[in-house]
Amino acid sequence: MAKKQFKAESKRVLDLMINSIYTHPEIFLRELISNASDAIDKLCYLSLTDDKVGMQRSDFKIKLGVSEKDRIISVSDNGIGMTKEDLENNLGVIAKSGSLQFKGDMDKTGDASDLDIIGQFGVGFYSAFMVADKVTVITKAYGSDTAYKWESEGVDGYTITEWQKDGVGTDIILNIKQDVEESEYTRYLNHISIGQMVKKYSDFIRWPIVMDMVQPEEVESGEFDADGKPIMKTEYRTVEETINSMIPIWQRPKDEVDVEESNEFYKNLYYDYADPVATIRVNAEGTLEYKAMLFIPGRAPSNFFSDQFEPGLQLYSNGVMVMERCKDVIPDCFRFVRGIVDSPDFSLNISRETLQHGRQLKTISNNLEKKVKNELLRLMEEEPEAYEQFYGAFSDQLKYSICNNYGEKKDLLVDLLMFYSSTEKELIPLKEYKSKMPEEQKLIYFVCTDSIDQAESLPQAEQVRDKGYEILYMTGEIDDFVVRELKEYDGMSFCNITTDDLGFEGVESKEEAEKKQEENKELLEFVKDSVGEALSSVRISSKLKTSPVFLTTDGDVTIEMEKYFSMMKNNPVAQNVKASRVLELNAEHPAFAALKSAYDSDKDKAAELSKILYAQALLIAGLPLDNPTEYTELICKLF
Ligand code: ADP
Repeated sequence: MAKKQFKAESKRVLDLMINSIYTHPEIFLRELISNASDAIDKLCYLSLTDDKVGMQRSDFKIKLGVSEKDRIISVSDNGIGMTKEDLENNLGVIAKSGSLQFKGDMDKTGDASDLDIIGQFGVGFYSAFMVADKVTVITKAYGSDTAYKWESEGVDGYTITEWQKDGVGTDIILNIKQDVEESEYTRYLNHISIGQMVKKYSDFIRWPIVMDMVQPEEVESGEFDADGKPIMKTEYRTVEETINSMIPIWQRPKDEVDVEESNEFYKNLYYDYADPVATIRVNAEGTLEYKAMLFIPGRAPSNFFSDQFEPGLQLYSNGVMVMERCKDVIPDCFRFVRGIVDSPDFSLNISRETLQHGRQLKTISNNLEKKVKNELLRLMEEEPEAYEQFYGAFSDQLKYSICNNYGEKKDLLVDLLMFYSSTEKELIPLKEYKSKMPEEQKLIYFVCTDSIDQAESLPQAEQVRDKGYEILYMTGEIDDFVVRELKEYDGMSFCNITTDDLGFEGVESKEEAEKKQEENKELLEFVKDSVGEALSSVRISSKLKTSPVFLTTDGDVTIEMEKYFSMMKNNPVAQNVKASRVLELNAEHPAFAALKSAYDSDKDKAAELSKILYAQALLIAGLPLDNPTEYTELICKLF
């Protein structure tokens, strides 16, 4: 029998299917099951108006078969079937605009990542050729007496012959390829793999997907033991098992899904042992229709802050998974969100332009961004413990996102931040800080340190606390960068109490400090020279009350930033980021008087005292001493 040729463009796609080392070959099953489901939809729809169909809703199903021995996988449905013309038109050609366009794009770019588009939106029936070297379709259309067999071994073409088949519907039989080095097809050839693929991609197809399973059963053997009890024996029998769960949880009304069930669903799907802190349901109607079920985890996966973490939500179209991780539907700042977006507008088929999808996904992403933010704000307000758990896991993600892309997302995220309050002794949002500010307070005071204890004991904090002002103790690695990016909150500037002007007259007025600065010019210069290159200048402070010294900085780089960059051991540029260190001295402190008198009478001693004061400033700032041995020797000398 003469072989019929595929249309040229179909040949092209077939070629691709057969010869590309495709990243997700297992989607062939999803495609065939989706087609079977569509065919059943059609016949079921007919049966509503046409009694002659003679089928009940419960009669419809998709049956899978697998035989490792014969290297066969089959997908059978009792749907509408295909006539000879249907076979010619539907399977002989894929002259659909999308496939043509796809072919064109491939020609242009030749980029393997384009192949992923196939995985995302499907190529339907032809994907069978990714795993099969021969595909047989036996089908009988509703209303027809004749069945047909369509057979093809790939690009060479296909044959159609009359055939015998009992009921209406379609059987697709795949002869699975032999294993080659880079692709092991045998792994599909067992019930477990087939079951897993169905669960993964087609769990929510609304018709039962069944498979014959062999099950052991204990039965009486007809013989009896000495006590007269029947002896049992094991018999194996075949039962038809339904593999898919059919109704997706996110398609069910919200009030019909209890928290426990939805938490279980989350944990199974995302391999988490902890419940999510919040679950968001979205039911969007209008121009773009979709349902979403989103989860906010309470802990970060171990690889979350590494390149290995794959963000994204699962896309479904009418219960069929079309993409496992879609990054485009959720903004990157919320990459910790897990969940599903299901829209009848997502197509399984690449024949719809991908550009169209791009626009849809963007719209969804914008919507979900708002939903997630509102849910987080609600948590913060109504379930502070849950929010703190979330914040403990993902505050760094929020902070990195604020600093990313020139602060593009800072307005979105700023109200989700929390910092430790010097007065409340707990984390508070900036909004709360601002609402409690006394009227005369004009700045938001903060300090970046390694620990709360260190912040508590900072000499510079004393005056601010004495004024009754709250200070935010920021102990996060990149908090300094975050504040720099924010610059202000709701019209109030941030003030770093270690480096910035406090905005109010301190223990000493600035003029007084400047006067003393002038008077002690030579001494200050001497201190600087004694300490050496580490210091860029030495000043008289107007901020200190009881402490003799502290370390501050001039310019943009703070000590916290220097610390952060110094951790990047392999980055020479980062290693060169140095703060310009300034030593501030308290002119009212007895230590200063001692320094001054030594300077007048004993320069060597004055030099030693200078070094000690600098070392103390380093210790207060939580920095390592340049030379701890020298420091202890100097202290001992004082005894
Ligand atoms: P798509 O399903 O996206 O249209 P396919 O290449 O998967 O593209 O299938 C092409 C056509 O073949 C389908 O639109 C349908 O008309 C027909 N078809 C495929 N599988 C079946 C089936 N099991 N039963 C009836 N018709 C089928």
